[in-house]
Amino acid sequence: IYHTLRPPVPLPPLPQPLSIVSYTLSLLHSPTTATSAALSATAFLIEPHTGRRLTYATFLQQLNSLKSSLKKSSSLSKNDVAFILSPPSLHIPVLYFALLSLGVVVSPSNPSSSPSELTHQIQLSKPAIAFSTSALAHKLPPNLPLILLDSPPFLSMLQSNNASSTTEDDVVINQSDSAAILYSSGTTGKVKGVVLTHRNLIAVIAGFYYNKSTEDDEKVNDVCIHPVTLFTMPLFHVFGFFMLIRAASTGDSVVLIEKFDFVKMLEAVEKYKVTFIPVTPPLVVAMVKSELVSKYDLSSLQLLGCGGAPLGKEVSERFTAKFPHVDIVQGYGLTESGGGAARLMGPEEAKRYGSAGRLAENMEAKIVDPETGEALPPGKRGELWLRGPAIMKGYAGDDAATAATLDSEGWLKTGDLCYFDSDGFLFVVDRLKELIKYKAYQVPPAELEHLLQSMPEIADAAVIPYPDEEAGEIPMAFVVRKPGSTISATQIMDFIAKQVAPYKKIRRLAFVNSIPKSPAGKILRRELVNHALSTPSSKL
Ligand code: AMP
Repeated sequence: IYHTLRPPVPLPPLPQPLSIVSYTLSLLHSPTTATSAALSATAFLIEPHTGRRLTYATFLQQLNSLKSSLKKSSSLSKNDVAFILSPPSLHIPVLYFALLSLGVVVSPSNPSSSPSELTHQIQLSKPAIAFSTSALAHKLPPNLPLILLDSPPFLSMLQSNNASSTTEDDVVINQSDSAAILYSSGTTGKVKGVVLTHRNLIAVIAGFYYNKSTEDDEKVNDVCIHPVTLFTMPLFHVFGFFMLIRAASTGDSVVLIEKFDFVKMLEAVEKYKVTFIPVTPPLVVAMVKSELVSKYDLSSLQLLGCGGAPLGKEVSERFTAKFPHVDIVQGYGLTESGGGAARLMGPEEAKRYGSAGRLAENMEAKIVDPETGEALPPGKRGELWLRGPAIMKGYAGDDAATAATLDSEGWLKTGDLCYFDSDGFLFVVDRLKELIKYKAYQVPPAELEHLLQSMPEIADAAVIPYPDEEAGEIPMAFVVRKPGSTISATQIMDFIAKQVAPYKKIRRLAFVNSIPKSPAGKILRRELVNHALSTPSSKL
């Protein structure tokens, strides 16, 4: 078993009832974080496309107001699930915090999902209510009670006068209660609902918070003192979800870009003197390649924290050569591990290009030989298993998938092929699981295979990740046509594109005579990947 090398981080005793909101606000209000004067002056949220900003003081007031309005006007009670479908906006953090502090489970989804993808998610999480915007609400099932975030009734809920200003929870929330359901396909099959508890989120936030105060470097590297963070990743994904809560615990300012655009990002860095950007690898590649970057003053930037997909050693090196004043550190995690399971911290570790970091606080790991189940020493490759207080409770309503992913001792099987070196640095070598990551977004191959197989002219199909410099990976399909069919690759790709979110589109397709399968009928994806890589494009 590999143990974390980070200093121990205190977690609140488990029997104490405590929500992630109370915990986060207690850190925010602690004397080492912020004085109340600082809270009135500091913007928590900045929205560049509207120019609006919300100070911490206004955020807290809106939070209390929304909490008491929701209690009065809706029939929401503890453990109900609220489905959220919205682009990022100033309202979303207020909504997340208000719902969480009422013990309501928040379940945010990708606004680019198709109605059928949303229906599947809603069947998993069984929400009592949905929050959406007038532009997106038509995608939701009509029978689901709905509150529009851009409607006068909601806006007035943020302004109620007689809201109490307490930061205590007004319902008893146990740390073991569910807090969020986020969507992930895990190691196999279709999308599932990952249930994270308040305790899971507390453990993640505690790690970041306490290691900030133990940094003795003048230019505090992993977390700067009141930095300005620019969010390029969505708030519905675990990365954006915990980064948002983390920002609130340390009193950071968050610049929320409504729809990602490279130039808008550069403008925002210059205008708001952004110090820190959590990113995914395609953005690092874009920064390395772009000539536009020299047109902007990016001198405020100190740190890029990269996660969600592998970041190549060579890309990190080129980034450092081009931006010598910016550290780039990699992190690794899964929705199922509550986000950050490992990360690099500080300027020394930042030099470990290619490593996904050292184990996060309170996290244990094993490298397990997939054939023999044996735990392996440093330098040896195997499946990474993780255990600790941040690991999910399970998949919503899917005991079989939960049992296949979490063993009886609490180990989470990540489906990633990894090794540790002798200094405790984690290296992610490959993915054993089915998942494709297009620009770090999850594309479950099983979902696309199911759609392909539903087409009358298709006899069989398999979908694999195909390497792509810009996106990391693109979904590629191998298709067996029924005898006599002349259906074209474009016709098939168009058919799929109409039914899935744009990031899940099949972007490459080859016709084959059969799909290689194991005797048990499992698709031999590795064989298809090797075939795709070793065959010239014109011959596929
Ligand atoms: P998600 O649940 O969407 O965050 O996806 C988690 C998966 O993304 C992991 O199991 C890995 O396969 C991949 N991933 C995340 N971070 C990294 C990283 N730094 N290096 C390689 N793969 C990563």
